Amino acid sequence: MNTATDWTALRDDFPILRQQVHGKPLVYLDSANTGQKPQVVIDAVDAYYRDYCANVSRAVHALGERATAMYEGTRETLARFLNVHRDELVFTSGTTNAINLVAYSWLLPRLRAGDVVLVSRMEHHANLVPWQMMCERTGAQLLPVELTPQGEIDLDDLRAKLGPQVKLLAMTHVSNVLGTITPIREICSMARKHGVATLVDGSQAIPHMPVDIASIGCDFYVFTGHKVCGPTGTGALWAKREHLQSMPPFFGGGEMIREVSFERTSFNDPPHKFEAGTPNIAGFIGLGAAVDYLSGIGMAAIAEREQFLLREATARLRDVPGLRIFGAASHKAAVISFAIDGAHAHDLATLLDLDGVAVRSGQHCAHPLLQWLGVGATLRASLAFFNTLDEIDILVRALHKARQLLA
Ligand code: PMP
Repeated sequence: MNTATDWTALRDDFPILRQQVHGKPLVYLDSANTGQKPQVVIDAVDAYYRDYCANVSRAVHALGERATAMYEGTRETLARFLNVHRDELVFTSGTTNAINLVAYSWLLPRLRAGDVVLVSRMEHHANLVPWQMMCERTGAQLLPVELTPQGEIDLDDLRAKLGPQVKLLAMTHVSNVLGTITPIREICSMARKHGVATLVDGSQAIPHMPVDIASIGCDFYVFTGHKVCGPTGTGALWAKREHLQSMPPFFGGGEMIREVSFERTSFNDPPHKFEAGTPNIAGFIGLGAAVDYLSGIGMAAIAEREQFLLREATARLRDVPGLRIFGAASHKAAVISFAIDGAHAHDLATLLDLDGVAVRSGQHCAHPLLQWLGVGATLRASLAFFNTLDEIDILVRALHKARQLLA
């Protein structure tokens, strides 16, 4: 474990963690749902509204220039963070928006009846429903790549399903339910050998480990800002330059144009071609501050800290009678889905809340995966670097108590 970082002291960076819930200290174990925001992010958003609120890329006055520099500064920051070129990063309102952009603008014009889109069985609905909608329009087929009993991608099944009929493989980097870290480089390389384009959903990866998009070898990589300590309504699509050049714009309006007449419009260069209208300026400025904050701690250190918490939490949860953990991948992020025999996940989550413990219960926007697991709902504890061993113990004690109440 990294010994240089004082992880407990870092908790002071997050004002929300100081509160009590139902008279108990808040134990926030729902970071896979949304990440908490450090003071520097809140301050960055506040400073924009307080000191230099102006629209971007339009005004030449001082406030407009400052807002534009800060907003575009986030693109630079993100590009460095992810090892890509800034012009290949399209700002979106999140992962869902980014995937829909690729679905409508890149896939739909290429998809024909008889084609196949592959996804894994453990995708979030955001990386499933848009592809299904495109398939329904065109007569193409959406097929799942199956999982091993441990909840890993069945690479033999993937190999068997890849072929010339496959137009896209859309795959998560980290499962939001099982925590599985997929061997994404190997998967993209397999797809490439068959000439199949790849989209990687990095929503649960970017906040928890170093991600070097250039080394993955995918065609598209998407993520959402609110899970990376950033504000809601932010996110990005990274795509290879040739794709961004070939894709028609999805939304039309201001900012995405070069010249407009009633006869025709010529479009701006990527990424601006895909960014019509006034964006979430404060949000992206906050996202830049969030990425600077995480970089300051170091993503490798964060990954190491969370792996330590994951090991401890998994071991301690196993002591709870009747508790089953879903997902036993050899590479896992700090997401633990579980059920307790005889107790409904929502009832358990409600009782945990009374002890100040925030976990998610339900189907986690992954119905096909839950069907495969054969459960109606799970509880999900998802950890962040600021969580502590004491908090894990509070969770375990609260589960013992809740189990007895519900038995
Ligand atoms: N994919 C994964 C793996 C996720 O965990 C989430 C958020 N739970 C999404 C996609 C969707 O992200 P958003 O709602 O921010 O667009």
